[in-house]
Amino acid sequence: MDIVRPRGTNDFLPKDTVKWHYLETVLRKLCEEFGYGEIRTPLFEDTNLFQRGVGDTTDIVQKEMYTFTDQGDRSLTLRPEGTASVVRAYVEDKLYGEAQPVKVYYMGPMFRYERPQAGRYRQFHQFGVECFGSNHPAADGEIIALAWEFYRRLGLKGLEVSINSVGCPKCRPKYRQLLQDYFRPHLDKMCKSCQERFEKNPLRILDCKNPECKELAKDAPNSTDCLCEECQEHFQSVCAYLTAADIPYKIDHRLVRGLDYYTKTAFEILVDTIGAQSAICGGGRYDGLVAQLGGPETPGVGFAAGLERVLVALDQQGVEIPASSHTQVYLASLGSSADLKAFQLLQELRKTGIIAEKDLLGRSLKAQMKYADKLQADYVLLLGEEELAQNICMVRQMGKSEQAPVDLDNIVLFLKEQLK
Ligand code: ATP
Ligand code: MG
Repeated sequence: MDIVRPRGTNDFLPKDTVKWHYLETVLRKLCEEFGYGEIRTPLFEDTNLFQRGVGDTTDIVQKEMYTFTDQGDRSLTLRPEGTASVVRAYVEDKLYGEAQPVKVYYMGPMFRYERPQAGRYRQFHQFGVECFGSNHPAADGEIIALAWEFYRRLGLKGLEVSINSVGCPKCRPKYRQLLQDYFRPHLDKMCKSCQERFEKNPLRILDCKNPECKELAKDAPNSTDCLCEECQEHFQSVCAYLTAADIPYKIDHRLVRGLDYYTKTAFEILVDTIGAQSAICGGGRYDGLVAQLGGPETPGVGFAAGLERVLVALDQQGVEIPASSHTQVYLASLGSSADLKAFQLLQELRKTGIIAEKDLLGRSLKAQMKYADKLQADYVLLLGEEELAQNICMVRQMGKSEQAPVDLDNIVLFLKEQLK
């Protein structure tokens, strides 16, 4: 075929989607327990939303967006992340008028024009939560605990929480200044992006991947040494909540988010097995974002977790995902009246919730038996014209060679009993 799926996208086949269903089931249950309700926003939004909500100077906005003009000449963008849309909805749907905190979660596809590689795609899936209306450190603690509990339930090992505080508009200018003073003498050795960041966004130099910039960043001043009293207390308190919840963490002074509306807590969860793309979750506080998008001053904290990377990590760690349900009863029939009867029986079994199958290809009895074997059906029912005449069918249990007749009028009850 000459038409193939776009680069960086995936087809998930039934054998894969059972894994996705499992993740989704665990997540929905978890969010229910933590008191987060699901929010569903459009997959595309006004391009301005991401320019303002994610930030003009970020890689996402500068390099990674799928932006197009629709037939009405509007500039729209496939969502590259979830937070901007959720904040827009919080403002547009006036969720600030409800009892606070407002706690929501989302999951679904995100789109970024990136260089595809293992664990990095152009269409990928995130699960995320946002908690609005609380500036209390317990809210930061709760969302990190939620992420941690998700991975714990899945059975993932080798996880680490990295945490930092980037301060607030009161204390960050001082830190910016210190960073600029530190990097200024080395500017000529730094990459082009960092030379630009130096003026606009010096915090982001700290997470540059370029080896020279990375080396320089090692000895750069730490944001936690510049925090105002409020930010300092908040940070210590978040760490205390993590300790109380028995969540191990490490302070990472290089973990930053450069934009003004990101405040205080920044965190990441890393897994040691998946190599380069080891970040499976990233988040933090954004006390300035709701106002930035036109809403009332409202604090917020949230995270986004990549689900493809979780599946990779589960696979690498050999964690079993519960198998999907398999066929319980296979109805094999021979002859057209037996076939009709089998079809009727099939629907009756299904009505009672039994997972049942019959032949849909007009295959020979032998081929039907072979197929039933392949399905590993718990029970095979044999129905020929002769059985039909006696109003019975032959029942054989998987792995056994003997078979026994059962009255057709009792067969549904009989199977229900056996399969209990
Ligand atoms: P990275 O540094 O790996 O590019 P990021 O900082 O761009 O990550 P976020 O925007 O914070 O990532 O997104 C949160 C999570 O979403 C990441 O930790 C990761 O697990 C996942 N993620 C991000 N981009 C991709 C992608 N292109 N493909 C698959 N998962 C992704
Ligand atoms: Mg990225």
